[in-house]
Amino acid sequence: MGIIVQKFGGSSVANAEKIFNVAGRIQDAYDAGNSVVVVVSAQGDTTDDLIEKAAEINAKPSKREMDVLLSTGEQITIALLAMALEKNKYPVVSLTGWQTPIKTNMVYGAARIEKVETTRLTNELDKGRIVIVAGFQGVNAVNDITTLGRGGSDTTAVALAAALHADVCEIYTDVDGVYTCDPRIVPDARKLKDISYDEMLELASLGANVLHNRSVEMAKKYHVDLEVKSSFQKIAGTKVKEASSVEKLLIRGVARDNDVARIAVIGVDDTPGKAYRMFALLAKKNINVDVILQSIGRENTKDISFTVSRSQMEEAIKILTENLEMLGATKITHDEKISKVSIVGSGMLSNPGVAAKMFEALYDANINIRMISTSEIKVSVLIDEDMAEKAVQAIHNKFFKD
Ligand code: ADP
Ligand code: ASP
Ligand code: MG
Repeated sequence: MGIIVQKFGGSSVANAEKIFNVAGRIQDAYDAGNSVVVVVSAQGDTTDDLIEKAAEINAKPSKREMDVLLSTGEQITIALLAMALEKNKYPVVSLTGWQTPIKTNMVYGAARIEKVETTRLTNELDKGRIVIVAGFQGVNAVNDITTLGRGGSDTTAVALAAALHADVCEIYTDVDGVYTCDPRIVPDARKLKDISYDEMLELASLGANVLHNRSVEMAKKYHVDLEVKSSFQKIAGTKVKEASSVEKLLIRGVARDNDVARIAVIGVDDTPGKAYRMFALLAKKNINVDVILQSIGRENTKDISFTVSRSQMEEAIKILTENLEMLGATKITHDEKISKVSIVGSGMLSNPGVAAKMFEALYDANINIRMISTSEIKVSVLIDEDMAEKAVQAIHNKFFKD
């Protein structure tokens, strides 16, 4: 008995039948004597549909108005789920992000949660009510609605669990845990019993969208016990915690990210300060640069390539083209059809040869590597997008089957 935060994703609440299934899971937790706070996402493809609706009206709407629009998806779900619980004779109240309130910074479309006010939440729980909170949204300092970025409902759930000092935060979804790879790409991927915050954070940041990366970051910071579970089957899921212990694996998982574009600035003057100027220009526009590669200088020039998310590619090219002369560069090329494939695992800290094993898998599959980047617990390669699935399967086979 204690406080439980449960989060149900979009596919888990996609229709009336599924909403009643979710209501059943909530009722079980409530009947066991717990105080239950529930976070839900928009039903099924609602968020994508709303994005399409906006595009029919305006190709470049303001981020503020997009947030007003997208937040409605979650508002529909909280009301419907509350109605299902009412029908089953359970005491319940639904709350939007601003009613809770979940206070965020000013960044529309990718807001960060700054504070969760708990007065209303605890009052409702004290009255014995189940509280259903809209995921993915908050309110900023000027009382505007903000959203947290795609997949952000996980972060709402962890923020509520941290603020309420909940005993556990359960993330219910359409898979029954975190696997060594997206089971949609590798059907025989293995389910992990547990995974450390650091490994999960890398996997989530590198494309394993089973958890929003900020939710893992927050769970680590506030020591929230997190579990990823199935909405449909009542079986144990995957625990995300301080250090994983049970299974000794060389790597924990393979992830793929298609939201990558590569930009190359060709013939840059091989003199000090050029890289600084280039990346300062991008930073000023809030463009996040990921992997960077600089060629060896030849005839007093060099090429600098780097990756950005596809949505930021055009803006990056525009700002660099405007400054071509200042950078002493000759031209800019770009490539949108690339993917990042990564392996993650703290096992690689003490086992040399992990990267070589990954590269061998790619060599065996005849896949060319365009760029490489590494950190303590991950190795990423950039490859052609149409090779990404094959690469993931080859790498997964190498580590988990050989
Ligand atoms: P929800 O709507 O419940 O938030 P998501 O679609 O955001 O669900 O996340 C669940 C999906 O994450 C799964 O259907 C699966 O395809 C994908 N996924 C990607 N990588 C992994 C992984 N390593 N383990 C499990 N699922 C993964
Ligand atoms: N509905 C939002 C999305 O589709 C948030 C979420 O599902 O977590 O991205
Ligand atoms: Mg999700």
